[in-house]
Amino acid sequence: MNSAQLKSLLTLQQKDLTLIQLKKEALGIPKRQESLESNALAAQQAAKKAQDEVHACENAIKQVELEVESSKQQINKYKTQQMEARTNEEYKAFEKEIANMGTKIEELEDKELLEMTRLDELKAAWVQAQKLEKIANEKVASDVQELEERLAVIRSTFADIKSGREDLVAKVEKEIFDRYMQLLNKNQNAVMVPVRQECCSGCHMKLTPQILHDAHSQQKWTQCTFCGRLLFDDGEG
Ligand SMILES: [Zn+2]
Repeated sequence: MNSAQLKSLLTLQQKDLTLIQLKKEALGIPKRQESLESNALAAQQAAKKAQDEVHACENAIKQVELEVESSKQQINKYKTQQMEARTNEEYKAFEKEIANMGTKIEELEDKELLEMTRLDELKAAWVQAQKLEKIANEKVASDVQELEERLAVIRSTFADIKSGREDLVAKVEKEIFDRYMQLLNKNQNAVMVPVRQECCSGCHMKLTPQILHDAHSQQKWTQCTFCGRLLFDDGEG
């Protein structure tokens, strides 16, 4: 392979490696957008859950307050009935009921106090969850937009590189080009590598004197016997 062809192939490889990189990046973009969106969705769900917990706790407190209220009414009812009691036993029975109701009210009020402490915590958690939701929503809006802009840049760069590629391909013998493409498609990585310190700079294995000689003479396609990459001697190795 003469040095003009080698030069064309190396330029071609540079373009092709950029194309491969761009393609990989473009293919990864929808996934990155999806993950941003699912983060935002998770934050929304967490905020909704925190809100539901606040409301559930508020309802529980209301429920306790209603129970306290009805227990107090029940005590008043017992007191009225107690005054109408005809026997001492009846009177004492009401007294016991009133005392029981009093204990129940105390328990309910303790419960209400606990629920109110819990409500403060839940409200603080809700405020925090709303903050996180806002951050996630802002992030998804800006990052998705950024990724879309990046995708547009990738597409136009891709088209630019691709359009200049054909001229280079025309400068390389078809057989060599086909082998190059075959290797490139297989490796998705650099397939033409320089010799460095008597080694293939692709796989870093030590090359035989014959291979080194062939690579140096540039008379034919010289492949690394270990990794199959095309070797060339740029005089720097
Ligand atoms: Zn190699």
